[in-house]
Amino acid sequence: MKITPMLEQYLDIKAQYPDCILFYRIGDFYEMFYQDAIDASEILDITLTKKHLGAEIEPAPLCGVPHHAAENYLSRLLAAGRKVAVCDQVEDPSVAKGLVRRAVTRVVTPGTATSELMLDAGRSNWLAAVWTAEGTAAEIAWADVSTGETGAATVSAADARALGQALLAELARLDPVEIVVCGAASEEDGGAGEALAALFARELRATVGVRPAEEFAVPSGATGGEAAAHAMAGLTAYVRYAMLDAAPDLAAGEVRVRQAFDHMVLDATAIRNLELTETMFDRETKGTLLWVLDRTRTAMGARLLKSWIRAPLTGTAAIDARLDAVEWLLDEVFARNHIREALRSVYDIERLLGRVVAGTANGRDLLALKGSLEAVSSVKAELAAPEGAVLRGIASELDAEDALCALLESALLEEQPVSVRDGNLFREGFSEDLDTLKAGASGGRQWIAELEERERARTGIRSLKVRYNRVQGYYIEVTYSNLSLVPEDYIRKQTLANAERFVTPELKKIETAVLSTGAQIGALEYELFMELLGRVQGRAEAIRATAAAVARMDALCSLAEAAQENGYVRPRVEDSERLWIVGGRHPVIERMLESTRGAGAFVKNDVSMNLADEQALLITGPNMAGKSTYMRQTALIVLMAQMGSFVPADEAVIGICDRIFTRVGASDNLAREQSTFLVEMNELSAILREYTRRSFLVLDEIGRGTSTYDGLAIAWAALDWLCAEGRRARVMFATHYHELTALEGVLSGLKNLSTQVDESGGSVVYLHKVAAGASSRSYGIHVAEMAGLPAALLADAREKLAALEAEAKDVRVAAPWAAERQVSLFAADGDGCGAASLQAGGRMPPLRDLRADPALASLAALLDE
Ligand code: ATP
Repeated sequence: MKITPMLEQYLDIKAQYPDCILFYRIGDFYEMFYQDAIDASEILDITLTKKHLGAEIEPAPLCGVPHHAAENYLSRLLAAGRKVAVCDQVEDPSVAKGLVRRAVTRVVTPGTATSELMLDAGRSNWLAAVWTAEGTAAEIAWADVSTGETGAATVSAADARALGQALLAELARLDPVEIVVCGAASEEDGGAGEALAALFARELRATVGVRPAEEFAVPSGATGGEAAAHAMAGLTAYVRYAMLDAAPDLAAGEVRVRQAFDHMVLDATAIRNLELTETMFDRETKGTLLWVLDRTRTAMGARLLKSWIRAPLTGTAAIDARLDAVEWLLDEVFARNHIREALRSVYDIERLLGRVVAGTANGRDLLALKGSLEAVSSVKAELAAPEGAVLRGIASELDAEDALCALLESALLEEQPVSVRDGNLFREGFSEDLDTLKAGASGGRQWIAELEERERARTGIRSLKVRYNRVQGYYIEVTYSNLSLVPEDYIRKQTLANAERFVTPELKKIETAVLSTGAQIGALEYELFMELLGRVQGRAEAIRATAAAVARMDALCSLAEAAQENGYVRPRVEDSERLWIVGGRHPVIERMLESTRGAGAFVKNDVSMNLADEQALLITGPNMAGKSTYMRQTALIVLMAQMGSFVPADEAVIGICDRIFTRVGASDNLAREQSTFLVEMNELSAILREYTRRSFLVLDEIGRGTSTYDGLAIAWAALDWLCAEGRRARVMFATHYHELTALEGVLSGLKNLSTQVDESGGSVVYLHKVAAGASSRSYGIHVAEMAGLPAALLADAREKLAALEAEAKDVRVAAPWAAERQVSLFAADGDGCGAASLQAGGRMPPLRDLRADPALASLAALLDE
């Protein structure tokens, strides 16, 4: 079989980048072959063709994109979760002997992209590397190469499964665009690397890859452990692999080591369920907590606010410090307005700095930086006497870099070209050498500009023109009718249809001088620019600190603005297990209802919880009456308070939560190949393993996804478990198993709440009010009616319900322990809908007695693990 040398070269290079689409440069195109071509043509919606690449072999599928539009196509391939190795010609085709040498010049991956087209201004572009050795400890290092920020954390857990969950929680909080699982995690560890990668790919919105171990040797001197040296080495190696010479020196910056105990832990499930930064179904920002709170004016502020939402604080002092700042900004309306106005002129300093440090910034970037720093001085002016440690800290960190700004102002013209090689960058007076050269060039240009007049006078040809084009340079054009008047010293250059073009020796000389001075000017301007860039680079660290302070300022102003717009109050946070909320609202649904039904449409509700008699709130009530809303709003209020935000309530006292767990609604996860019920049980199992006394648990309809009795048994057992002494935490538990309301008075921490409806007018009116007491009906048929089920079907259902309820009066489904303990379960009480009754002297049996029940055996096994 004979293949062409080009195909041979292609296959060679492709073999080195099996996980990437290969962009292979031929002429003005990047071509893709084989599977790459098939995939890319589909993602990019471009034509797939075929090409013969050698005798005796099938023609190869092929597609291509023009090289000048490559960035656009690259960004679309990235968005589709692909990586691209860009292979260029690395020698001049006109001088190459035989096949042009080609090599990969960069690998474009989501986490190493720096082009603005591929970056989302509102999302940090974190690339994370995960390294794990023994299966119980791991390191994570991360960097945003577009800004140069780096960070690291170490994670440990009891076993591999828990480690995976802990890593997942860390990563979910970070929200990286790309994750590299590296180091010993791969083969030696029996494929643990692959398993972790699969877990991350399933649970997180990131491109995930596994890298072989040998590349990630820890540099000598580093010890691993705390500074996450292995993961950092992996990260650095990966950045070098992708960016080659353009790789930034990540070690140069300060690595911020994150301490796990500083922040509330929110796992991927909670982040998703509470719709903190994207909605569950369509992944939009609208309809999320971020949407309500984000009034930021800069991309840096927006990114920071997002990270605050994902990582609320757990220390009262740190929370109060932020709340102090928000309160000051809320009160000082003028200062806040001025600051927010100034922030409008602040560009993305962090990403500008990324380009400055990488040496790819142009004049426009430097002017944008200057403008931003000037705005910083206005912000600083408003912070002359702020209250509180946070704002004072920000005021002291904001440095408007007056000297640097003055330098940039004196140096750069207001209009800057895209490429610094295009010249015309500097103001007059900035460089004497440059001015001299320019004067020389302009003398020459002036001479040429006046040439037309001079030659017209000398020759008497009134229509004589001096013109310039790229090919010929300057020339004198004379029409045929005037040729007789052309003087001796004109040298013919070109003949046209009705004119001739000439040059003179003097014109030639001056033109050459002008052009060579032009080249000198270009070279000098470039040199001066690089010098200027060097000066900015020298201030990079200081400017980075300023940028971070600007981001904090912006995020705090945003919280103050949102607080004012929405009428939030300052929560009191304390080290306790109390929750006390008066007039609480759901921050998002409130806004949604406002737009459809006007202000005040949302019904406020109170919350009172502690670990004694209001520890588990059992919430019953009709479908659609607001149970989920009530629970989620409480979780959101806690989260908002701990991120330092004011909250949607009239009054709130929040005992710090170390974690918020959620198990809400039925989230089918067919993509994960798990049944709805298995997902539910997995989530419950993870929660029960990990919650502490300080956690807040939102459990919505536990047990709903299986048969009634199995589900009820599991829900009951879970409550039993959660209300046991020594295992208590704040729990909100919504259910349609009304039987469970009988547990009030039996489990000392449990209290019944129900959502109210008004039936007095003959129809069902949802009041959305949560009050003490149990509900006995679900009004499921009413909701079915609202949904428009056929009338005949509804009538039939009502009859069947009546029959079932009547029958239930006689049913005594005795639990195995019933005889002994005189408890009967699921027995109907007078009003017909199956509320449980515990007969006199009855007590709910503890979980261990339930083992005999097969429905509970699996849960019990889970809990035992
Ligand atoms: P189900 O049992 O069917 O899951 P639910 O009781 O959990 O229902 P929610 O999903 O919380 O009900 O609420 C249904 C709708 O009722 C919400 O989408 C919202 O529009 C409205 N609603 C809920 N709470 C309130 C409230 N406090 N004020 C005004 N409207 C509310």
